[in-house]
Amino acid sequence: MTEHDHSHDHDHDHDHGHDHDHDHDHDHDHGHDHDHGPSAEEFERAQAEAARRRALQQIRQYPDPALQLKAHEVEIFDESLMNLVERMMGLMKDAGGVGLAATQIGILQRVFVFEPDDDGPKAIVNPVVSNVGSDKDSDEEGCLSLQNVRVDVERPTKLTLSGKDPEGNDVTYDLEGYGARVVQHELDHLDGVLIIDRTDAASRKEALGILRPTPVLTEPVLPR
Ligand SMILES: [Zn+2]
Repeated sequence: MTEHDHSHDHDHDHDHGHDHDHDHDHDHDHGHDHDHGPSAEEFERAQAEAARRRALQQIRQYPDPALQLKAHEVEIFDESLMNLVERMMGLMKDAGGVGLAATQIGILQRVFVFEPDDDGPKAIVNPVVSNVGSDKDSDEEGCLSLQNVRVDVERPTKLTLSGKDPEGNDVTYDLEGYGARVVQHELDHLDGVLIIDRTDAASRKEALGILRPTPVLTEPVLPR
């Protein structure tokens, strides 16, 4: 899903944010600019950026055909499923996203990981949405598979998400607002639906214009 909105903002802040400017000004005031190497904070930021790029290289980018395929129900809850979820959690975190569907790494199984609130990341297998509210809301979304694209998407604001955890136990989440939006974005991925399929014609056209010049990653990524 979504790397969603927030990660894009986040990335941007990291690259050009005020914190950075401020630090720099501060150093400058004291004339230590050229005396020291990168600060611990700058080093950490560079490492996070490197991890983000590595993660994005493992996430399928539009127009990769896997992004338009429908994933299959998971029937076997085994160690390889646990490994998949663990890998997806790591990629979501490193990429700075709030959701990632298995189809985004080319695995056609109905699994996604998501972070609907500050309560930590969650994984759901064979997710089903019910109790969808009648209220809808439009908001900007981004996607880890559609870099630099942000489009308005209208979605219901309230729903119940149910499915299995990776161990095969039943799980249910009642979600509203942001969390509800995140899981609908991820569930769409499992059906091969992208945010550019859910926005208006003008926004879609603009998004495709942004995506066209983006170089497609052609290096094969070996599975871990
Ligand atoms: Zn997405």
